[in-house]
Amino acid sequence: MTYKEFIAQIENFEANYCGDISESTYFSFPMQPVLDAETRLSAAEKSIAYFSMEYGLAPSIYNFFHLNRPMTEKNKFFKHQVFSNYWISDYVFKINIHKMLDIPIYSGGLGVLAGDTVKSIADQGLSAVALGILWNKGYFKQNFWYKYGQVPEELSWDPHSYPGLIPLKNRIRMTTKQGDLVLRLWKYYVYSHDKKHVVPLVLMDSNLSDNSEHFRKLTDQLYRSDEVFWRILQRSILGIGGMKALEDLKLNIDCYHLNEGHAAFALVEKYVQLADKSRMAFEKKKFVYTCHTPVAAGHDRFQTAELRAIFPEKYVEAAEEFGKETEDSKDVNLTYLCLDNCRHVNAVAQKHGEIMRLQFPDFAKRIDAITNGVHTHTWVSEPFAQLFDKHESVFGDWRADPNRLQEAGKLIKNDEFRRDVFHAHQVNKRHLLNFVKPWKLQEDVLTVCWARRITNYKRPSLLFHHVEELLHIVGQTGPLQIIIAGKSHPMDSAGASHIQNIMEHVDRLNRSYKQVKVLVLENYDTYFGKLLTNCVDIWLNNPLPPFEASGTSGMKAILNGVLQLSTLDGWVVEAEHDDIGWIFGWRHKGPEIGDEWELRLDEDSKALYGSLKEAAELYYRTNKNGVVDIHSPWIDKMIHCIARAGFFNTHRMVQEYKAKMWA
Ligand SMILES: *Cc1c(COP(=O)(O)O)cnc(C)c1O
Repeated sequence: MTYKEFIAQIENFEANYCGDISESTYFSFPMQPVLDAETRLSAAEKSIAYFSMEYGLAPSIYNFFHLNRPMTEKNKFFKHQVFSNYWISDYVFKINIHKMLDIPIYSGGLGVLAGDTVKSIADQGLSAVALGILWNKGYFKQNFWYKYGQVPEELSWDPHSYPGLIPLKNRIRMTTKQGDLVLRLWKYYVYSHDKKHVVPLVLMDSNLSDNSEHFRKLTDQLYRSDEVFWRILQRSILGIGGMKALEDLKLNIDCYHLNEGHAAFALVEKYVQLADKSRMAFEKKKFVYTCHTPVAAGHDRFQTAELRAIFPEKYVEAAEEFGKETEDSKDVNLTYLCLDNCRHVNAVAQKHGEIMRLQFPDFAKRIDAITNGVHTHTWVSEPFAQLFDKHESVFGDWRADPNRLQEAGKLIKNDEFRRDVFHAHQVNKRHLLNFVKPWKLQEDVLTVCWARRITNYKRPSLLFHHVEELLHIVGQTGPLQIIIAGKSHPMDSAGASHIQNIMEHVDRLNRSYKQVKVLVLENYDTYFGKLLTNCVDIWLNNPLPPFEASGTSGMKAILNGVLQLSTLDGWVVEAEHDDIGWIFGWRHKGPEIGDEWELRLDEDSKALYGSLKEAAELYYRTNKNGVVDIHSPWIDKMIHCIARAGFFNTHRMVQEYKAKMWA
């Protein structure tokens, strides 16, 4: 693609974007990789199309485009409230920060993984395009109300002034029984760490005056789930709209990667498009599928009557032909649609592979497992990046090959390295403490964090299950600082009551803040994801096994030498014997998956307190008010963490995708 052709496709180029884009620059980044990527995608070269409902791109912490074009007021985030047992003036107190709002098109781990995957695809210079949806109102904004818990609020942002995002003139049309649905396409470019390559991200948007009021709102809110028609239409925008977009952009795609069953209608669209239906057996070979959750709510199932109320008959027939669970079923199951028709299927950790094979025995032979990772460049903190650079003789060019971090074990007897590791961590920790300064957290007090999506199987309030027991341990070992953060889906009543529950526990600890100080942070996002995973001493992960397919936040933590306190589930199973912290609690075994509502809080909270006590004892033996024993096993564990981060990254994961799925 030439530069002229590139700007010709942009809507309102002269009025809105000519100051940001020139022959040499794209929002201050180099232009050439953009033109190269577009050329490769439309040339004979065969490329990958990656479909995902959400993308957590984290531009506030990595590759930000806003240096040239400052964020407008609408795209900033101003304040976060903190709820604590240590009173400032009230339970809830604000910290004011002026940070940019990340493109709000993700809700949690699935989106962050998609973003990290696309970044690693760019790092490896592969030819690919990513497809998603431009959520005009994001996910939602979280407010804490004392005694009430989480109160969700509609989020607003302005895509037209968001740096790096450009609208195209293209229009996609989908036929429905309620009339045509028209989609605008947007583009965002995800650059490699060295800015030599990009992956274009195409986002679909129904907020156009061509559409009815009802259709305009379809791309408002991610995972709006109050009505089945919304869910079907949102998924068809991704799958059907996405396939039509690829056609409209004239891209030459050889492999369609469906990230989660949300994109399953892409297979239906492929079939409908075929003039010669007998070619479907051949076309199916181009589809691959990644499944992300063993939790029932993660698998979409729609009645054929519901599909028939929306789609023309040929779509309903195709969905029935490829997506029925059984011959006489009246439901189309998007997970089955993918499992039964994709050439390659993968679970996201080895343990998850085992569980998936139990859940879908008919497909057991075809289910592979490729363990998730995180994008090293996004999640590494500056002090640790400098540390890896300093020990170049061992880590080599770790930026080009993050797998090199596996070599960390070679430095375990190197006193200078051991001192540097602990020091780099303390620099990070001070950064966090400064961020929440009014609460006067202490640098040499053990700090534990639990932060993730708040949902039942992750057991958000396990740490507070027996507050008296917790206080008892702290009395024996030394004080504790606890940070909690996370959003619960607005329709998830169990999640909401967990938040309320946590706030009540914090309230009950209000006289004990000298022993246990708790901070609950509002609006967990990728910015906080980085701050917390980089800076605390211990990362707490306590899902009920075997319901955590992988989990990725712990991988961000180990990259920065933060120890794990975890149940044995998801990715942690693969690090069980690596001495990266403490593993506690109930273990899943055998052919029964079990009940995700039986949380085992009593027994597992006791196990958690036992391990926490061990961890605290070791911590206070290692760090005595700033006097550090560099020969402590604590530092061995930190180094083991770094070494494992050389495996749990998306660089290695994309290499595996390439070899096993995309080839
Ligand atoms: C990394 C990340 C997640 C995923 O965390 P899990 O451990 O998989 O639960 C979710 N949300 C944000 C904002 C993240 O940065």
